[in-house]
Amino acid sequence: MDLGIRGKTALVCASSKGLGYGCAEALAQAGCDLVINARGAEALQAAAQRLAAQHGVTVTPVAADITTEAGRAAVLAEGIPNILVTNAGGPPPGHWSDWDRDDFIAALDANMLAPIALMKACLPEMAARGWGRVVNITSVSVKAPIPQLGLSNAARAGLTGYIGGTARQVAGQGVIVNNLLPGIHATDRADALDRPVAEREGIGMDEARARRFATIPAGRYGTPAEFGAACAFLCSQHAGFIVGQNILLDGGATNVIM
Ligand code: NAP
Repeated sequence: MDLGIRGKTALVCASSKGLGYGCAEALAQAGCDLVINARGAEALQAAAQRLAAQHGVTVTPVAADITTEAGRAAVLAEGIPNILVTNAGGPPPGHWSDWDRDDFIAALDANMLAPIALMKACLPEMAARGWGRVVNITSVSVKAPIPQLGLSNAARAGLTGYIGGTARQVAGQGVIVNNLLPGIHATDRADALDRPVAEREGIGMDEARARRFATIPAGRYGTPAEFGAACAFLCSQHAGFIVGQNILLDGGATNVIM
């Protein structure tokens, strides 16, 4: 299917690897010129070269912390994109009693206020152009909170509430905003969650993964490429009637029908 976005510009945050990279690659395959971002310059540069070489699009790497105002200014200095994919690292796991105000502020900055600030910067120009697409990478925890991820549950619920209103305020101007909710995907983040389980249970990583696979009806983790393909569709010309949705990509793990 032709996604109809060849030649559009896309800013994909936190995208040197993992789900952000999957989104960047799918948008590159669709013919979008990219600004990609991560804090680590080396992996980011390598990702940019790979994407440009494989897909023949222009890829501009901007090494910056997207959770800071300076980081956001740096990526936006490349211009207001046609397509915005917001993303950042997830907060650490823990127990409800572990976290103080500073921990909550850091989580809110990364997973709620950073995407909101990026949207506030981009939506007016997208609306003025009469076309824009925003995909926020959130988490399955929005529909089914994960006990040890209280910081993530809290911050992403806040972002989801904001999008619920905002998406409906800009849809009439051709700007389409949706959220993608990843379940477990095979990325460094999944390893970071499996490692403590393996250590606590005295098992290997393969066994820790196998135990988690058993909780997922699809029997495996998702891939960044599958995730990216869903993102690119939501950024396509065909997604103009999908507004303010929270779309689970979790292999069926969350047993909900709405
Ligand atoms: P990942 O594989 O660890 O990749 C994270 C990417 O984001 C890297 O490119 C990293 O590069 C970059 N990054 C992290 N913090 C950043 C920051 N402050 N500013 C700019 N770039 C930053 O993670 P992932 O699995 O793709 O997860 C992406 C998001 O989805 C996270 O919020 C995660 O919590 C959420 N999620 C993931 C899963 C899963 O199973 N993978 C499930 C549910 C939710 P640098 O470190 O160099 O900055």
